[in-house]
Amino acid sequence: MKPFERITISSPEIMNYPASWRILKNLAKYQLLPPGFEDPEIVDATQVSNKLAFEAPRVAAPANNPVALGKRILHLTTQPGTFIKQCPGTTNMLCCQYHIVNMVSNCPFDCTYCYLQTYLNQPMTTFYVNEDDIFAQVSKLCERPPVAQLRVGTGELSDSLALDPITGFSVRLADMMSKYENVRLELKTKSKNVEHLLELKKRDHVVVGWSMNPREIINAEEHGTARFEERLKAAALMASEGFGVAFHFDPMIYTDGWQEMYEAAATELLANVDHKQIRWVSIGGLRYQPQLKPIALKRRPETTLFMDETAPGTDGKVRYLRSQRTEMFQFLNRIIKERAPTVYTYLCMESMPVWEKALGRMPDRGF
Ligand code: SF4
Repeated sequence: MKPFERITISSPEIMNYPASWRILKNLAKYQLLPPGFEDPEIVDATQVSNKLAFEAPRVAAPANNPVALGKRILHLTTQPGTFIKQCPGTTNMLCCQYHIVNMVSNCPFDCTYCYLQTYLNQPMTTFYVNEDDIFAQVSKLCERPPVAQLRVGTGELSDSLALDPITGFSVRLADMMSKYENVRLELKTKSKNVEHLLELKKRDHVVVGWSMNPREIINAEEHGTARFEERLKAAALMASEGFGVAFHFDPMIYTDGWQEMYEAAATELLANVDHKQIRWVSIGGLRYQPQLKPIALKRRPETTLFMDETAPGTDGKVRYLRSQRTEMFQFLNRIIKERAPTVYTYLCMESMPVWEKALGRMPDRGF
């Protein structure tokens, strides 16, 4: 990861939050502070504040590529409202339904198909430093009667672990959630940033989930992310250290030789990670809002992602044709089940008919 070009705060009071200092110290530790910024350990609060630009969130026109600009600017601020929401899923599609905690928006990685390109209009990576408010809201959620499994995730508006060694957020969240029964924290990532999680003593309620694709697709379309073998190594480490792990073959990409590529990727994955620690594997196809295509093509004219036949779904998102999706999901599910019969598989944001044809069953349980 490259150093941030700028760090901004929304007001001087931001430096009263411990998270702000922790972030600055970690940026110094990983040499990610903007050039000319001294180690915050050796300057006082006033000096640090003077070096930070005070800036209110701005809105940039889509043509100015706010997502790309935002990958270079870290903005620390607070949010007074609700940090948790139920996963919205998508209209008329079945969804795995869990609660999402959003404390960061934007991502240092740059996948060609990333939906943030159509969603974020602020040219900055925002982190909310009022963590105690977030933790109070999550505690309240966890305090419901512990009858059914509560699933909480953090990877909606960013990658869960891409900035985590800097923010230290997931360890604190997992630690706070560890005292509750029947709760699970899922950290979804395309990174290899897991070693800091080893400081957690209680681990079995944490599931680190990797978004996986064959090497060829990662190398061509998932820019800045950990490579296939780095993700695999990190997953094997987490599984061996008692964490739950999960894999998301999502988005599956239809391309020449897709069968061989996905078979090789799933085979290698399942040969290297302890099946007992795999909590689930999800499968989903490339899908996107129609407005993504021109933005992504402008930024990555070399991509071949948008060449196949697609159709808009009832939720407005563009997908491969149903017959093609069914074929892909059926194929990969069979490969996974042949190599790991006990591993639970499911489809993400797909309709009942596709579930039935591809997996031979309807959605049958929570997680
Ligand atoms: S890792 Fe996720 S959030 Fe980050 S750029 Fe890729 S798709 Fe977007």
